[in-house]
Amino acid sequence: MKSTLARAAGTGGSVVVDRCQVCDGRDLEPIIFVGYLPPVNEMPAIGTRPAEQPAYPAQVLRCPRCELVQLGLIVDPAILFPPSYPYLSGTTRILRENFAELYRESARLLGLRREDLVVDIGSNDGTLLSNFKQAGHRVRGIEPTRAGDLANERGIPTDIAFFDRTAVDRVLATEGPATVVTATNVFAHIEGIHDITDAVVALLTEDGVFISESHYWLALVETLQYDTIYHEHLRHYTLASLTYLLAAHGLEVIHAKRIPTHGGSIRVYAARKGARPVQPTVAGLLAEERAALTDEALARFRRGVVASKLGLYALLKDVKARGERVYGIGAPSRASTLINYVGLDEGILDCVLEIEGSHKIGKYVPGTLIPVLHERKLLADQPEHALLLSWHIADELMPKLTANGFRGGYIVPLPQPRILPPTR
Ligand SMILES: [Zn+2]
Repeated sequence: MKSTLARAAGTGGSVVVDRCQVCDGRDLEPIIFVGYLPPVNEMPAIGTRPAEQPAYPAQVLRCPRCELVQLGLIVDPAILFPPSYPYLSGTTRILRENFAELYRESARLLGLRREDLVVDIGSNDGTLLSNFKQAGHRVRGIEPTRAGDLANERGIPTDIAFFDRTAVDRVLATEGPATVVTATNVFAHIEGIHDITDAVVALLTEDGVFISESHYWLALVETLQYDTIYHEHLRHYTLASLTYLLAAHGLEVIHAKRIPTHGGSIRVYAARKGARPVQPTVAGLLAEERAALTDEALARFRRGVVASKLGLYALLKDVKARGERVYGIGAPSRASTLINYVGLDEGILDCVLEIEGSHKIGKYVPGTLIPVLHERKLLADQPEHALLLSWHIADELMPKLTANGFRGGYIVPLPQPRILPPTR
């Protein structure tokens, strides 16, 4: 299977998705439009006079044939990931725990033997592979950023390269085929999905298993996570759409489940058709999706997103009328979508705070003049409110900030905008 959609890579611009990235269908249904978004990694330094800046439309489309949910515009990765783009190393607790659990689950479910090779696509600093290595398996990472150097220093053999057929041939020549190929939080991000999937299949042993983890469209709809819509996320998968995509390459889904990372993700195991028994989890999750993702549910999602925007505005109107300060906590990519979609500016959101060492400190939030400053300002200034831009981990963040000495209250923007008074 091929898509005839033009490639954005190398254009220096963008490509309108006029046919499905997976099945080439042209009959794509619009689901939601969150406006024109500036590239999230273009952050001018504080004090820079605002200059011309690109912005790319972010419309989400659904293909009725293969059920893929996808962004309506693909931007050249050279724009989204400029050379100055700093790699992200180190992971959150929830990610580390998830990787340890992925290791335990796959070792048990697949009956892994010590000599088996495990290859991780987009392996970052090697955190996932370190779990397999500790258990005695052979491991190999493939990572295009400098995070791969860090992995090599930690003893996780890593090729500094993009994942493609050339990278696969290099692994095959030195290590042979892989029993497990993993791709966590990368399978929805790369264009040319059929080439990528072909390369995965070429890397697998006859009974090898491809395990992918991606942010999950059902979770996005359930909890109104429109803020995960930005141009790095080319596709929003369901199990149904992944099943269609993988089947086009001779792969069959053998196990699937929901996991808590990134505000709600899906982990899917796939093997060559007939090579491994299919777990009942697959039919279970497919049925759950069919029941939950109705046209009516998508219409409710659209209304809910608009209501959350108006609700947040109403709440902030009262806060600002009282002359109170609002500091944002954290400037992940999703914060840029929320801030730009809702229309927050530096008169509403005084600043956004990032942790020590963040490359974003000293810059403006994309598309705004909201400064990103060091987190120490929260305790020094004690603003009346902290707006949790990483609201999907609000339950983890609030007790931590309060324990650190923050005496103000919290504003949680989604799914229901709400204001929580100071806890002491
Ligand atoms: Zn399609």
